[in-house]
Amino acid sequence: IKSLSGLEVANSFSELPPRFYTRLEPQPLNQPRLLHANPDVAALLGMSSSVFQDPLFLDVFSGKQPLPGGKTLAAVYSGHQFGVWAGQLGDGRAHLLGEVVAPSGNWELQLKGSGRTPYSRMGDGRAVLRSSVREYLAGEAMAGLGIPTTRALALVVSDDPVYRETVETAAIVTRVSPSFVRFGSFEHWSQSPAELQALFDYVVDRHFPACRAGVHGPDALNETVARFLREVVARTARLIADWQTAGFCHGVMNTDNMSILGLTLDYGPYGFMDAFQANHVCNHSDTQGRYAWNAQPAVAHWNLYRLAGALLGLGVPQDLLKAQLEHYEAEFLQAYRGNLMRKFGLLAWEEGDDELADQWWRLLHTQKADFTLSFRSLARAPEEPDTFLSRFADPDAARTWLERYAKRLEQDERDPDQRAAQMLACNPLYVLRNHLAEEAIRAAARDDAGEIGRLLEALRDPCTEKPGFEAYAAEAPEWAERLQVSCSS
Ligand code: AMP
Ligand code: MG
Ligand code: MG
Repeated sequence: IKSLSGLEVANSFSELPPRFYTRLEPQPLNQPRLLHANPDVAALLGMSSSVFQDPLFLDVFSGKQPLPGGKTLAAVYSGHQFGVWAGQLGDGRAHLLGEVVAPSGNWELQLKGSGRTPYSRMGDGRAVLRSSVREYLAGEAMAGLGIPTTRALALVVSDDPVYRETVETAAIVTRVSPSFVRFGSFEHWSQSPAELQALFDYVVDRHFPACRAGVHGPDALNETVARFLREVVARTARLIADWQTAGFCHGVMNTDNMSILGLTLDYGPYGFMDAFQANHVCNHSDTQGRYAWNAQPAVAHWNLYRLAGALLGLGVPQDLLKAQLEHYEAEFLQAYRGNLMRKFGLLAWEEGDDELADQWWRLLHTQKADFTLSFRSLARAPEEPDTFLSRFADPDAARTWLERYAKRLEQDERDPDQRAAQMLACNPLYVLRNHLAEEAIRAAARDDAGEIGRLLEALRDPCTEKPGFEAYAAEAPEWAERLQVSCSS
């Protein structure tokens, strides 16, 4: 497809009752420039990257013109923020443009930073360049790691001022997802049975059809709701397991940022850990450490309770919902152990492996070892320990762990080269470290998208070593420790 007007566009969200959203137009940026667009995401949508040159592309993704065939709207939702019921929120600076019908599925396109809406509260409806670059890169970094996520198609910038702690400039990211429905979308209607049922039917019909398959009779609703919650529990548990084993901290795990599809959603003050600290808090605004790395699994479970609480409004028995929530821990542990099994190059998760993993985390934590490179250098560690040991301030402690690990490997009948190859294929060399994002932001502020392009090239395939990308595979420089990210975006 050569032009945006050639796309097939649907608007299923707009067919929900009117109270779910407000139809409105974005407030376009002045003299917008397309800083970067992602050919991988364009391909998902059935477009070739030649559409990036089409003037309509910039007009649509800077908010100047609607998506041809699309119905632009902002959606309402509510949520718990930092453990407290926050009431009504909604797309305060985002506009849903419509839904592209592509061979790869249906994809909603959403502008973020595109102006005020009835849900903006005190906000200005804008997003700054800094956080827009971070969001633009993060979805692709996660996708490269195989972690479920929203994606990003385009990054448009302008010189329009945005007032945060200092004066910054405005940008718009186009996010792409099968759906932007959140736990908080359900919470919003928990006291409104008709709307809640409409949302439930919409989400199940479009995204969870298996929850209805073969379900009939008077208990059909109960059964469908139970299956649905069970599936959301499973997806969320697997997602958090993926975060944990990638060293990813979300930063703002409020229920309005929890995707009902189990995708990583809303990249604000997130972070991939450099030096491992189990209680690492990436969000400078999170003074209590509610969303620390080691708190994420329990927080997600708490968030699922809030979702289940909202689903009670469908008139299903509480016990039935509770029973689904109880699967969370087992789902999480299964996924988490599976991930670690592969990262450690084991053939199965055996008795004693939980302890091995525990000691691994302790080693990394006490030595503040680099999360990504410690895992990466494990592949060759049993045969050539030096590189691995050099990652640790106290190599003796690392040697003790390595001996135990090498002994464990003997239990598996496996060719070491094969094992190493498998480990190198799942332990990334490149991750979106804060300082790499920062370099990309600084270049972007000069309208130079080169760093964004190079980073995306490394991150789209993060386990494959690429010549010329040595700097992206290095430990964070000292100045990275002073980088602070907060809710200000
Ligand atoms: P977040 O913490 O980023 O998930 O945002 C929480 C809520 O605040 C959502 O309803 C956002 O739409 C809204 N919001 C955040 N920043 C702004 C802004 N600059 N203008 C308007 N609404 C905003
Ligand atoms: Mg949000
Ligand atoms: Mg946000």
